[in-house]
Amino acid sequence: MSDLISLSCLIFGASLLGIATRPDGFFAVFWPANALLAGVMVRRPELTKAQGWVAAGLGYITADLITGNSLFATLWLTFSNIAGAAVAAALLLRTDEATWRMQRQLSALYLLLACSAASAVATITGCGAGSIVFNTSLHVAAMLWFSTELMNYVLVLPVLLTMPVSWQEIRTGTAQQMPPWLRWGPLISVVLSEISAFLLGGPGAIAFVVPALLWCALTYKVFLVTLLSMTVCFWKTLEVASYAFVFTPDHLPSVFSFRMGVTLLSLGPLAVACASAARNDALQKLDKAVNLDFLTGAMTRRAFMSGGERLLARLAREKDCVAVMMIDIDHFKNINDAHGHGAGDVVLAGFALTISQLLRPGDLFGRLGGEEFAVLLPRTGQESALAIAARLVNAVRNTANTLPDGILVYITASIGVIQVSVISADNTLDSLLKAADKRLYQAKRNGRDQTVAS
Ligand code: GH3
Ligand code: MG
Ligand code: MG
Repeated sequence: MSDLISLSCLIFGASLLGIATRPDGFFAVFWPANALLAGVMVRRPELTKAQGWVAAGLGYITADLITGNSLFATLWLTFSNIAGAAVAAALLLRTDEATWRMQRQLSALYLLLACSAASAVATITGCGAGSIVFNTSLHVAAMLWFSTELMNYVLVLPVLLTMPVSWQEIRTGTAQQMPPWLRWGPLISVVLSEISAFLLGGPGAIAFVVPALLWCALTYKVFLVTLLSMTVCFWKTLEVASYAFVFTPDHLPSVFSFRMGVTLLSLGPLAVACASAARNDALQKLDKAVNLDFLTGAMTRRAFMSGGERLLARLAREKDCVAVMMIDIDHFKNINDAHGHGAGDVVLAGFALTISQLLRPGDLFGRLGGEEFAVLLPRTGQESALAIAARLVNAVRNTANTLPDGILVYITASIGVIQVSVISADNTLDSLLKAADKRLYQAKRNGRDQTVAS
């Protein structure tokens, strides 16, 4: 219920804002309500029921009636507004979430398609009312209607579609890891481009901002790009309305051409931001596939060795201590022999989960091969290393592994530990692993299910 009331209030507020931008009682310069409605419906599809549309309708109607429109015109206009938003929402919801969240190569083109269809439907169903209310010919009403709808949909809708669900999502942006000049550079260049466009003016000034927006698209998350594009394009509209022409039928060709130009201008950076997001997503997946073992989720041998070498070098520079462990499952061959290789895989994955849950975020855990794993514990003294190893051995022994056929099996593991207080040039990762391996085999000879540290 509170969602429906919020939706009603949102549409009411957005409609009032739109009505406030009608020059001399004419068509609104901005009309964000329909794009907001479509965006809310895509983000919250549970609202795409009769109650949701009625709530939105009440928002439109109240805003129109209190600003002096007739009931007949209000109902007609509201119907066309809702029809357009419903078409946009329905078309976007037909795609997968990654597409409508602007994370795919073709997202921007699909958005243009959905927005054009929505604008066409709103124009066809609403321009009759528009021509009566605003006393213009049908074709003038249609051109103004279509261009306003398309501009508002293309500029406002992507902001809602890409809006992060939490602050956490905003804070983990790619720009976070950049030096300040690279993080702020694109934004500053947008401002500078707009200032130079304002000072130089002329018909080409509308496109001065394109390189800066493209830089933003390659640097920032899609949400920020949509927000910047929207701000820049609405700013340009205000600017043009203040000195070039007013948004009335007397300037119809200019108004129509300007709106279409601004709309299409915003699509370039959006398309680049979408392609960039799709590429980052693919790179992340590739990185995971290369560096994480698919069965156990532990680091692959190569990733463990290179990450471990780097960490060791840093610890040596910081004069910190380190502990390295080799862990091997005891008599693992018996599990495969008794229950099959598939069951062995399940046990292996469960074992890796048990270990990784007991490690700290900065520890490295890698699968060096078969059922043999290694752990690198930065800043860990001898006593802590032994305590951690004992905890791991106990946890493996006490964890029941459920096989696909429901049978419970228990396993044990042996661990060899080497701890170094002052890392010297001789302490390469390779040499530490060899030393830990020696101790591991001592643990095996001592009867398994235990730790050997010296
Ligand atoms: P020990 O206590 O001496 O370590 O005995 P073990 O049987 O564990 O040692 P061994 O090295 O003889 O055998 C390891 C077995 O692990 C042999 C191999 O078939 C099995 N293995 C290695 N990789 C995998 C895997 O990915 N999946 C499964 N299911 N088994 C694997
Ligand atoms: Mg083994
Ligand atoms: Mg082995």
